[in-house]
Amino acid sequence: MSRPTRFEEFRWLGDKDRMRVHDLDNTGDPCAIDDLMKREAFASFGPDILPEARNRGYKPCPHCVPDDSE
Ligand SMILES: [Zn+2]
Repeated sequence: MSRPTRFEEFRWLGDKDRMRVHDLDNTGDPCAIDDLMKREAFASFGPDILPEARNRGYKPCPHCVPDDSE
């Protein structure tokens, strides 16, 4: 699937409703990124890294973030 245009510069995309973070290099249909964009519940991170997302309380999406060390 295509990357949301406003997130072209980002790899990690947070879902504020579900407190999940997606890896935009790996997202697939189960991630429902289109739905997330419609809900406008997305977040980006600075720095754009997984540990920063974790620090903010986001859990890795099981569909697109294979390295869940928790
Ligand atoms: Zn995902």
